Amino acid sequence: MSGSDHRIHVLLVSYPAQGHINPLLQLAKRLAGHRGIRCTLAVTRSVLGNSGGPSQAGAVHIAAFSDGCDRQGYDEVGDVQTFLARLESVGSSTLDELLRSESEHGRPVHAVVYDAFLLWAPRVARRHGAKCAAFFTQACAVNVVYAHAWAGLVKLPVDKQNAPAQLPGLPTMLSPADFPSFLTDPGSSPAYLHLLLQQCEGLEVADYSLINSFHELQPKEAEYLSSRWGAKAVGPSIPSAYLDNRMADDTSYGFHLHTPMAAESMAWLDDRPARSVAYVSFGSLANATPDPAQVAEVAEGLYSSGQPFVWVVRASETWKLPEGFIGKAMGRGLFVTWSPQLEVLAHPAVGCFVTHCGWNSTIEALSIGVPMVAVPQWSDQPTNAKYVEDVWHVGVQVKGVVTKEELARCIREAMDDAKGYRTNAASWSHKAKKAMSEDGSSDRNIADFLSKLGPST
Ligand code: UDP
Repeated sequence: MSGSDHRIHVLLVSYPAQGHINPLLQLAKRLAGHRGIRCTLAVTRSVLGNSGGPSQAGAVHIAAFSDGCDRQGYDEVGDVQTFLARLESVGSSTLDELLRSESEHGRPVHAVVYDAFLLWAPRVARRHGAKCAAFFTQACAVNVVYAHAWAGLVKLPVDKQNAPAQLPGLPTMLSPADFPSFLTDPGSSPAYLHLLLQQCEGLEVADYSLINSFHELQPKEAEYLSSRWGAKAVGPSIPSAYLDNRMADDTSYGFHLHTPMAAESMAWLDDRPARSVAYVSFGSLANATPDPAQVAEVAEGLYSSGQPFVWVVRASETWKLPEGFIGKAMGRGLFVTWSPQLEVLAHPAVGCFVTHCGWNSTIEALSIGVPMVAVPQWSDQPTNAKYVEDVWHVGVQVKGVVTKEELARCIREAMDDAKGYRTNAASWSHKAKKAMSEDGSSDRNIADFLSKLGPST
């Protein structure tokens, strides 16, 4: 056994998806910046394998557990229910081994911050005497909606014919189309729906609940979650340099599960006028991107907007592009299979973000001050898109099914700031930065969480 480390040891455990690893890694970095705290981020072996297996990211130690699919992760089984069952059975035993090994090496774990998707993680943590904090990777509003559905207040399926509803804890009415898609269409992905409802148990059983957001962004929703369950917003989990619209020295803000575009592509952006480029990405999950007909509308809409664009089209998705489009867009459009998204959003040439409104993408754009064109696809994205347009006024949602005319109109509207989207986004960016600064709301919530873990913090 090596020498003992007397610091408080926080182990963060991530669900193996890009949108879950990024915010947990950033939170880990933030916690590790506090005196007296040792932080370890546990990710699955398939994630480490794909990214070359670093043992360290800044001050954060990286450790592995297994989802039972060490070669290719989810793709090895291709079925959500089977994957989640394996993740639970193999994940709980290998996480148990990890906690035991840390203890044997003189680094006992005092608290486990677990992705709220990992419903079984508290059982493992408690066996080792560690406290448990659930970490929610979706917006406060979305957590409020799922909590109501879990408690039976929202009846499933949400009927598409319903009038807009006012739910407790939300400042705005939600029409059926604004609900997370799993609630309007429970049959589309029953395993995910079950997981999302059950994660509300984290609010009941965890010692703490932490959310990747900041209080000022959804104050009513955050207060609702805080007063009922003590949940606290501790984000946005974004390196502070990007909040200042600077490039970060430490670009290891995430394990990129894909290879980011080369430096030459950033140079392409350097050559474009300020705020002229539409950045387009539908997130990390290939199965949640638009179908070929919609991709064709996006392509023609981008082209006819007249603006230069950078479009993330995953290698497995390029077949959806209309034939000859890459050639037609030559000089105007840059196609990449993966981008360093925070760097792109913080680049002065970027004028708007055409986004699926995954929660990370939404809070990243808003915190960096980039107006959005919302093209939600599924899951929590419709709810986030509703807030983008109607609550935060930082962008516009395409109406109905995407057409090229509608997309081009939305891009123009987001770019020219006639409706003040950029000005509003800049103001939210300022608030995000303040929340994470010393004595800001998220900073206080992080300090409060750490103060409960032990005397040495
Ligand atoms: N991302 C990235 N490069 C890309 C596309 C996405 O770095 O080309 C990152 C993005 O910054 C975000 C995450 O991947 O942190 C995607 O999470 P999000 O919640 O937006 O969407 P999801 O992929 O979960 O649908």
